[in-house]
Amino acid sequence: MKSLLLPKYRQGVFGRGREIAEQLGLKRKGDSFYCPTPDNHAHGGKRPCVLINNKTGNFRCLSTNCGVSGSLVKLAEILGHPDPWGKLVELTGIILTESEEKHLNNLRRKGVSF
Ligand SMILES: [Zn+2]
Repeated sequence: MKSLLLPKYRQGVFGRGREIAEQLGLKRKGDSFYCPTPDNHAHGGKRPCVLINNKTGNFRCLSTNCGVSGSLVKLAEILGHPDPWGKLVELTGIILTESEEKHLNNLRRKGVSF
């Protein structure tokens, strides 16, 4: 996916993937997290089975029935944050230029794109 915001997003998330996932409300146990979509699990996702790449922030559920995966923006959406991109901008503390801000508003209108 090509996004004007991607380089800054990567920079802001780098080395903080797990910390940001936790701030989004994902429950953690050590390096593993509980799945944000436990309904996909036969036993309700009671075991922590989601791994998060601390560098990229990308997450992946290891359950074969589930396998939900994606970026922290997608995670924010799954967890019900009404403005997933805005939330990531807030949590990473990245500063947007005017054109990036416009792009962000486009993404808000169209929905999460990665
Ligand atoms: Zn899962």
